Amino acid sequence: MSSAEGRVVLVTGGNRGIGRAIAGRFVEEGYRVAVTARSGEGPEGTLTVRADVTDGAAVDAAFAEVEQQLGPVEIVVANAGITKDTLLMRMSEDDFDSVVATNLGGSFRVVKRASKGMLKARFGRVILISSVVGLLGSAGQVNYASSKSALVGFARSLTRELGARGITTNVVAPGFIETDMTAELPEATQAEYRKSIPAGRYGSAAEVAAAVTWLASDDAGYISGAVIPVDGGLGMGH
Ligand code: NDP
Repeated sequence: MSSAEGRVVLVTGGNRGIGRAIAGRFVEEGYRVAVTARSGEGPEGTLTVRADVTDGAAVDAAFAEVEQQLGPVEIVVANAGITKDTLLMRMSEDDFDSVVATNLGGSFRVVKRASKGMLKARFGRVILISSVVGLLGSAGQVNYASSKSALVGFARSLTRELGARGITTNVVAPGFIETDMTAELPEATQAEYRKSIPAGRYGSAAEVAAAVTWLASDDAGYISGAVIPVDGGLGMGH
């Protein structure tokens, strides 16, 4: 039996896009996997629980259900995220607050709740899905880039808090990945972005999932506070 077997994973936003690919890869590797979803279901082999990550009570209830059905969460992937892109001059307070409340606040709520069980178990893997634009910046994404760069400070602070308890906290920073989020961009913008990526192509959700499952594995037990890019070279120098 590999050490992955029996470990319980929770992925937020596991009904589509990158979160779905991450959940599916964990299932393939023999973990017991739960996903949170506001709508739809996780991939085959996962337990789907309802939760909006902006709602602390809903997050708490989702964890209680996972704990009851699968056991304490040992690996948490804070993936749920949104964009509300517009130039700063046009950005409303709500555009800013809702993106921060989902991407950063959602990670806070989920990781805080997960840390209880991890402390008891003296084992945990916290993986935060950030973005290349968190450190590179992006015109029209002051809200999104702020929420994503903050995850680096989050991971490094938590590493200092919980690093001695067998808990690692890392950030995965994807570049442009083919999902609903990037499909919304105009074709001309997509072509422009593609030119700036050294790999010359967008990434796939499966490529992000591979980095996440590796960080969750025993092989990555001495890696914490790191930012792992999955971006075809776009953000070199971070
Ligand atoms: P999608 O838009 O395809 O999926 C977003 C997921 O987040 C959905 O499952 C969605 O649920 C969920 N979600 C959004 N808001 C909430 C909320 N308040 N509560 C619970 N779940 C919520 O995005 P991607 O798969 O592309 O992105 C996943 C993560 O990766 C995000 O954090 C994103 O910022 C990041 N990322 C994506 C990149 C890309 O190029 N695609 C690049 C860099 C980072 P629902 O279906 O209910 O809306």
